Amino acid sequence: MDSEIMLGRIKRAGWTIVEEPEEAEVIVVNTCSFIEDAADESIEMILELAQYKKAGTCQRLVVAGCLPERYREEITKQMPEVDAFLGTGAYDQIVAAVEGANPAGGCLLPDPELNPAQDKDAPRALSESHMAYLKVAEGCSRHCTYCIIPKLRGKKRSRPPQEVIVEAQNLLDAGVKELVLVAQDTTSYGNDLKPKMNLSQLIESLAGLIVSPTRLHGAHVDGDAADHAWIRVLYGHPDSIDDAFIKTVATHPNVCSYFDIPIQHVSHPILKKMGRGYTREELRRLFDKIRLQVPDAVLRTTLILGFPGETERDFETLLRFIEDIRFDHLGVFLYSDSGDLPSHAFPDHVPAEVAQERYDQLMSCQLDISAQNYQKYIGQILEVLVEEEVEERLYAGRATFQAPEVDGMTYIKTSAGQPEAKTGSFVHIKVTDAMEYDLIGDSV
Ligand code: SF4
Repeated sequence: MDSEIMLGRIKRAGWTIVEEPEEAEVIVVNTCSFIEDAADESIEMILELAQYKKAGTCQRLVVAGCLPERYREEITKQMPEVDAFLGTGAYDQIVAAVEGANPAGGCLLPDPELNPAQDKDAPRALSESHMAYLKVAEGCSRHCTYCIIPKLRGKKRSRPPQEVIVEAQNLLDAGVKELVLVAQDTTSYGNDLKPKMNLSQLIESLAGLIVSPTRLHGAHVDGDAADHAWIRVLYGHPDSIDDAFIKTVATHPNVCSYFDIPIQHVSHPILKKMGRGYTREELRRLFDKIRLQVPDAVLRTTLILGFPGETERDFETLLRFIEDIRFDHLGVFLYSDSGDLPSHAFPDHVPAEVAQERYDQLMSCQLDISAQNYQKYIGQILEVLVEEEVEERLYAGRATFQAPEVDGMTYIKTSAGQPEAKTGSFVHIKVTDAMEYDLIGDSV
């Protein structure tokens, strides 16, 4: 999203965006440094792209985002090949950086909290035509001890609902078929606004855009699929998922019954040290409630393994919980240490090989769960959003229970005489086979 907005601003300033770095006069790298691996990857990418200044048309290299925000002046000294660094509060200065208006090697690090999160009219160069992330807030006011995000992005600032709605309408008008609502702590949206509001109120308004009579019967509607789009919510915090949100998801057919709720762990001593503020019993009650009120609910969660002090017993408790709840989707990270995190000071850091063994064990357990869960779809008719053509008569897409980038895919087979499945269109399939993380079916 930040990259799309920066690209949009650069385009509006008259620049042409090229795909290949060897053709570029200016290269912009938007970085992540949430965990050590991401920071390392960003650094590798910058050094690789810096080569184009020597052997290519590139005259300027700009680095934006979390990496300069986290490592500040230290990184500027280590990377003299970079012409400008922009922190997370300086995205709006991207055009000046691209045009060389700042001093060479300059590092712009304004306080992210003082920068408007994103204005509704910010031009956006969408990287996908059929789906778009829609940021509803920036920053986070929680204090998880393993997380650098509040330091990099500041306290949570919810975007005014009118701005989110205008942006959503623009995206829908541009043909987007899936709006993915995101923030660092999405389900606590709106409690910092005046007057306060909550995420379910915002979703009600957004769902109204999609089923409005204008979109259903207006002249711009192209066929029966054009009036339709999905809304999906990612990154709910267990503490802020309220009954209203669950009811809203249950009520609106355009809102995916998809609950992405990162829990990180379930062992009480670890949850306490992580600063997560809930118990295993509360989590169990929450998941039971969701499944009771939304019978087709799909649950996704994320875990951290190898947090300082995690014992074999803590891990066993977590493994039993995963076997018991049987999440539809599960993402697992290994704890990533850094001197600037409160968790760094905790005793009993877990050796990397122990954390890796636990990871392997957990993922093997989840592989079986996922494979068994997917069996239930065989023979069902599903709506699928088409993403790309893989080969002749075979397309890749996603069902409502598969989020972009993180979950599996649904493959669509068409037979001779059936129309092509266009990217961004909805098709119906009858599921014929299920793999561990993917489904396949015939277009019907
Ligand atoms: S809620 Fe998420 S973003 Fe906020 S501090 Fe915790 S892990 Fe980080």
